[in-house]
Amino acid sequence: MARGKSTFCTWYCGDCNKAGYTTTYNKRSQEEAMKTKNKYCSTCRKHIEHKRKDTKS
Ligand SMILES: [Zn+2]
Repeated sequence: MARGKSTFCTWYCGDCNKAGYTTTYNKRSQEEAMKTKNKYCSTCRKHIEHKRKDTKS
């Protein structure tokens, strides 16, 4: 039923490399547009750039 595959991805802190967030995105619409995201890291206790890593293609 679900149209348009959602890709699961995990966001890793650019500093401590800890996996912080898991999101899904639609490859067709958003695609590579967001490879980095400024998110709060609870380990570094600051906002820092997170890198996306796809966990499912
Ligand atoms: Zn961190």
